Amino acid sequence: MSSKYLSSRIREIPPSAIRKFFDLASTMQDVISLSIGEPDFTTPEPVLQAGIRSLQSGQTHYTSNAGKLELREALAEYLFRLYHIQYDPNREIMFTIGASEGLHLAASVLLNPGDEMIVSTPCFVSYQGIIRMAGGVPVEVACRKEDQFDLDPQAIADAITPRTKAILINFPCNPTGAVASRETLLEISRLADAHDLIVISDEIYDRLVYGVEHVCFPALPGMQQRTILLGGFSKDYAMTGWRIGYVAAAPELLQAMLRMHQYIIMCISTTAQDAALEALKTGESFVQEMCQDYDRRRKMIVSGLNQIGLPTVEPLGAFYAFPDITSTGLDSAAFAERLLKEEKVAVVPGSAFGKGGEGFVRCCYATAYDKIEEALERIDRFISKI
Ligand code: PMP
Repeated sequence: MSSKYLSSRIREIPPSAIRKFFDLASTMQDVISLSIGEPDFTTPEPVLQAGIRSLQSGQTHYTSNAGKLELREALAEYLFRLYHIQYDPNREIMFTIGASEGLHLAASVLLNPGDEMIVSTPCFVSYQGIIRMAGGVPVEVACRKEDQFDLDPQAIADAITPRTKAILINFPCNPTGAVASRETLLEISRLADAHDLIVISDEIYDRLVYGVEHVCFPALPGMQQRTILLGGFSKDYAMTGWRIGYVAAAPELLQAMLRMHQYIIMCISTTAQDAALEALKTGESFVQEMCQDYDRRRKMIVSGLNQIGLPTVEPLGAFYAFPDITSTGLDSAAFAERLLKEEKVAVVPGSAFGKGGEGFVRCCYATAYDKIEEALERIDRFISKI
């Protein structure tokens, strides 16, 4: 069938560069995958049981569009407890099919054709595509290794034009593992005020930080009204397959997003909502345990990569290391492809993550400790052969 039937909007969007590596890796035996960005833990047992109980007790119906009120209330309490920020569960919170849906809704309600959204890069592979699908133009501003991949407020200021509608940030960051400092976020908040911009803050890794504070962007002075906060359960609670995330925002923004969600989704899975409620109520110790475990692996992979000769900035959040591979003389795609074919280790080329990503590869360390050890040996062998 001819692609002439497809809209130009979708024709202009390339497939995710990350997929190619998953697909190639999945056809090979004995591959150690550091490529997929998801926890290797199964969802904590009480949360699993809550999902099972929900189904067995006949919770098999639609819920309100925004999600069950009890769940919205629990999330409001949770955000208040963690970040001292108060959201009205009736008008300012909704549950989405992962943070992914939240991103799509946010871009769709904000952007008119040709509007610009500044995206801090290297970034999650979906960002540019989501902005384009909403008719907007992504304007990439790279975070640099020299700044520990923190934001560069001056570079962001320089990228603002009369068409700029919003700034999209993600800390802790996929793929760099960076956690933005309070000072740079305050500078971004001043820019947002000065230029009357909305900030979309994707904080899906908020609980996975190692010895540093996570600053919740809307909790900064004056920012609650201007921020669309995106969060979820996929990473913090090892619930990627349940497909549940949330949005918190001022009523005008949230209600617009909810209108769109109403027509497209209606409501998210009831089972996932009941499981997420349990996660909010009793999941804290599991979050702490998983975080400690990631921290152990983080220390090992970072020191291992540095020893091998791939300089790696210490990632302070999420579960990714982002080593600099320029000393090998290979670009990131060639490095990843050869490493996979020659030593059967799957990593993701930095070029997949937008501006500033070339020269690096992403290694997800949410993988068993002994597998990471073995992967490091293989990478070492690979490098010595180049
Ligand atoms: N944002 C970021 C930064 C991510 O890394 C991911 C998942 N890789 C998502 C959003 C999507 O998460 P979800 O499973 O909640 O849709």
